[in-house]
Amino acid sequence: MENPYMPYPVRIDDIEIATEDKSLKTFKFVFLNKEDEEKFSYHAGQFAELSIPGVGEIPIGIASSPVEKGFVKFTVFRTGVVTSHLHNMKVGDIMGIRGPLGNWYPWDKLENKNVVIIGGGFAFTTLRSSIIYMLDPANRSRFKNIDVVYGARSPGMLLYREELFVV
Ligand SMILES: Cc1cc2nc3c(=O)[nH]c(=O)nc-3n(C[C@H](O)[C@H](O)[C@H](O)COP(=O)(O)OP(=O)(O)OC[C@H]3O[C@@H](n4cnc5c(N)ncnc54)[C@H](O)[C@@H]3O)c2cc1C
Repeated sequence: MENPYMPYPVRIDDIEIATEDKSLKTFKFVFLNKEDEEKFSYHAGQFAELSIPGVGEIPIGIASSPVEKGFVKFTVFRTGVVTSHLHNMKVGDIMGIRGPLGNWYPWDKLENKNVVIIGGGFAFTTLRSSIIYMLDPANRSRFKNIDVVYGARSPGMLLYREELFVV
């Protein structure tokens, strides 16, 4: 039986500074074992525990979408012990991911409906996952109009600007 408390080993593949004040970074991870990526099968809206041996574990929403294969992404705000440690880590470093955990958005209930997504600040992570999921060619026809209303304290604090075509 799988031990749900055992993190899957991952390598930091890319780190992107996500906001102008550098308080948010987006980490792209790849699984060291291909079969772990398959076991880590998630829905848009779920979160995972990011696990740094000897430091701690933090729950973080999954910012990548299930339709994006080969990696998982998380956007992390630097606030305390574990998030600060993570912000100081480098591409190539190894750590762990445990999950997926939590509920997800009820995609079947949203089918054939207009969808309005409203979010603010860095709580937008799992909404990014959802938007990418709905816009995927395999899913787009299941939904009618998709409108996104997104705000942050200042324009420089908006996440995923290029993807969202923010001007
Ligand atoms: C389901 C879920 C999803 C989440 N998704 C995200 C996400 O996508 N992105 C994200 O960035 N965050 C997310 N969070 C929040 C994230 O889990 C927390 O920011 C993280 O756990 C903080 O861990 P830390 O060790 O860095 O902070 P800690 O060290 O635990 O500190 C937490 C807070 O307490 C303060 N603090 C710590 N020690 C002291 C002290 N001695 N005196 C006074 N204040 C102190 C810190 O300054 C900080 O503000 C999510 C949380 C949940 C539950």
